[in-house]
Parts: sequence; structure tokens; C-alpha cells
Amino acid sequence: MEYEIIIGLETHIQLNTTTKIFCACKADSWNDPPNTNVCPVCMGLPGVLPVLNQQAVEKALQLALAVGAEVQPVSYFARKNYFYPDLPKGYQISQYDQPLALGGALTIPLGDGATRTVRITKLHIEEDAGKTKREGGVRLIDFNRCGVPLIEMVTEPDLRSPDEAAQYLIRLRQLIRWLGISEGDMEKGHLRCDANVSIRPKGADYFNPKTEIKNVNSIEAVREAIAKEVERQIREVEAGRTIEPWTLEWDEHAGVLRKMRSKETEADYRYFREPDLLPLEVDAAWLERVRAALPELPLARRARFQTQYGLSPYEADILTGDRALADYFEAAVAAYAGPVKAVVNWMLNEVLRLLNEEGLTADGLRLTPARLAAILRLLDAGTINRPTAKQLLRRAHAEDRDPAAIVEAEGLAQVSDTDALRRVCEEVVAENPAEVAKYRSGKTGLIGWFVGQVMRKTRGKANPQEVRRLLQELLDASA
Ligand code: ADP
Ligand code: ZN
Ligand code: MG
Repeated sequence: MEYEIIIGLETHIQLNTTTKIFCACKADSWNDPPNTNVCPVCMGLPGVLPVLNQQAVEKALQLALAVGAEVQPVSYFARKNYFYPDLPKGYQISQYDQPLALGGALTIPLGDGATRTVRITKLHIEEDAGKTKREGGVRLIDFNRCGVPLIEMVTEPDLRSPDEAAQYLIRLRQLIRWLGISEGDMEKGHLRCDANVSIRPKGADYFNPKTEIKNVNSIEAVREAIAKEVERQIREVEAGRTIEPWTLEWDEHAGVLRKMRSKETEADYRYFREPDLLPLEVDAAWLERVRAALPELPLARRARFQTQYGLSPYEADILTGDRALADYFEAAVAAYAGPVKAVVNWMLNEVLRLLNEEGLTADGLRLTPARLAAILRLLDAGTINRPTAKQLLRRAHAEDRDPAAIVEAEGLAQVSDTDALRRVCEEVVAENPAEVAKYRSGKTGLIGWFVGQVMRKTRGKANPQEVRRLLQELLDASA
């Protein structure tokens, strides 16, 4: 029997607001000691009232508009009640039956030019809970994260493989970083994912019961956990058993799934409208302001890079990997005013390598687009050769200096002066009679070796084409 895999993802996105969603505590506590960013509101002490953070709403609106969701003119907050030590109020303020936005889609490019459109069911805002951990036999609780703003975004069951699920997360992370609404760092829990998984016979048009895997908090985990769960479901079905709608937990270290509980139903949460907050009204003017301020989105920019600059889909995809890189590319193309292809090649190789090594995004490079363009022009003019250009690129960043100034100060300009180069070539020929004899007996491939010797003697500054021409002249002439 062949099976089709059905996956729907529920993601939580931590917003990078200055303060928490309902109080003035600092939202980002990553570097702070436990329980230092808390107040009576986020600790749920009696007699206090929440005040909604406008910045959090705006960031959620940005994502809603970016995925083409229908923002609701009025939405409501609701209490989701459950008991857990990291939830001091005994409920989480969330949205439920009337969320901030409905519908929309995230389109994800798959390989070979295909795409998958993943429909969004809904998008709402809510507060985060705290964290617990075990240490030396006691359970410790850190409330710093209580009240940190989250977007919850739920997809329709439109994903069809573990890899598609991973791609969805990669594209969602790209989008939230692009919009600047979240750092999107999965290791820090800025993007968390629960995966719902079921299987059905290939070609069937009904859905089977699903299980929900909690805690799949890395791209790799999404691939692995879903693949394991699919295997398990196939085994169960083939053994004649039915799939129970369990909630499973992915243990990243052990690489196994554990049953957490039989699924709670919504009734267990005893949802009701949050009486301490007004309905959230988003009028057309506000929405328009947010829409007008949206940047060109990743897929649109990727398409434009292909049409405007003639990039391949692969090149366009990499150069729109993040917004800073895309901006860098366009700035370098404008500053250089030479063939785009050169900018693309130098960026895909040298610049990306430098970024990886330094752990930077393009806006942190001191090799600015203007400096990269200057290096390319020096290269075009024959002032420097390629190895020098590569060196220069690194040094412009490391030393925060203009490439032309480095070339000037250190005499890095390549030697194209034919007389000077001819003298070095003659030396090399005179010093290596054995190689010369081999060359002349037909091993003309040795020319590369001779060029190398000349490059060494000139400490890499010779113009290699010119050297090759001169050497050929010398070696062939007296043969
Ligand atoms: P519940 O609230 O009962 O867990 P929902 O219908 O609200 O289920 O859906 C929650 C998530 O599960 C959504 O992302 C949805 O796309 C996904 N989902 C729903 N049904 C299935 C299914 N049969 N197989 C896989 N995913 C599913
Ligand atoms: Zn607080
Ligand atoms: Mg549900």
C-alpha cells in the first residue's frame, strides 16, 4: 500500500517588541538572570490590569498582510485556562474564536521550480508562559518569559512531506526576519513548531486521525520527528490498529517520540472572553499604514532579481536569502555599473564565505558595496589580479579601509610592465634547464608551472595572462 503524508503546522513566533504584550517589562530577557523582568501584571497578581502593546499588534499585522490574510476589523482576547507551574495566572491570554486574521497563504519554493502553496487557517496574538527546568532534584521556574508577545499561526493540512514541512519553516523564518518582527532564532525559541501528522492511502480524499508532535524546535527536528511518526503510523495501520489522536513529544537528544497525553479537547481549556481587555479594533486607516510600510517581500524580490538582473532562480534565491544581502547586492550593482554577472560571482563566492566566517549579515560588513565595486573596477582596469582582489576583499573588511588606499600604500598593483616581467621570465627559464628541456620535448602542459614560478617571484602581483604570453614566447622561440 502506498501512503500520502498529511501535515499541518502550528507555529509560535516570538515578536521582538521592546516590552511585553500587556505590561512594560522588557520583552527580551535572553541575557538576564531568572525572574528579573517581571511585574505584578505578567506575574498575574490580583488587582492589576493588562494594557495591550500596540507594537505587538502592528508586528502581527505585518505578518498577516505579508501572507495575504484577512485582518479582522474586530477581534477578541480570550482566556485559555490550564494549570501549570510556569503559568502564574492559571490562564494564558490568547485569542480564540475571533482571531486577529484569517486565511492567506505562504508559498514555498520546492526544488526544480515547483512551489507549494500552504494555506493559513488563522493568525492570532497571545502571551507566552514562563519556563521550568530541573536542577539538582528541584524544579526551578523562571517567569521572565511570561507575557512575551507571540504570534500563533496555523496552517491547513497542506504539507505533504517532512521536507516540505522543513521548507515551510525555513521560508517562514526568512519572512519574519525580512519583516523585522522577530529574530527568528529557533535555538532561542523565537520560532517554535508543533507538527500535526496523519497518513492516508495515496489518492484518498478523506483525512485520518492525526497526532500532534510538540516541541519540534529546529529545522532538523521537523524532518526527523515527522519521518519517525510517519513510520510509526504506517506500522500501526499495517498491523490493523487505528491511530489514536495522541499528543507526542519530540525528545531532540534521544531522537525519539514520547506519548505525552491523550489529546486535550478544547473544552479542557474552558475558553472565555478576556474581561480585562477591550475588543481589538483595527480600522482601515491603520491597516493601510502598515501595508504601505511593508517592504518588497522575499518571493517578489526573488522574481524581480531574475527579470531585472537576469539571475538564475538559484542565484536569485541565495541573494534574497535575507534582506541585508539583497540590499547589499543591489547597492553593489549600482555602485559598480559593470556587468551584473561579476557582482553575482564575487558575492556567491567570496562575500558569502566572508559572511559565514565572520558570522555576520551583509549590513555588518565593512567591505561595503562601494568597496566591493571599487575592487571589481581595479580588477577590470588590470590594476590588480584576481588573487590580489580576493585578498583585498578580506582586508577591506578586516582593516576597514578603502581598497584603492591599500593598493596604493602597499604597492599591490599588478606588474603589467612588459620589460620588468620579461626579465623575471628570463630568470625563471635560466634557472630551470631541466623543466625547459621537458617543455621543449613536448610537455607543454608545464607552462602552468612556469607561470606559477613567475607569480611566486613577483609575490603574486604579475599579470598572469601577460606572463603566460611572455613565457610562451621565450620557451617556443629558441626551441
Ligand atoms: P485540533 O484543534 O483538533 O488539534 P485542528 O483542526 O484545529 O485540530 O488543526 C490543528 C492543526 O492540525 C492544523 O495545523 C491542521 O492543519 C492540522 N490537521 C488537521 N487535521 C489533520 C490531519 N488529518 N492530518 C494532519 N494534520 C491535520
Ligand atoms: Zn511585567
Ligand atoms: Mg484546533
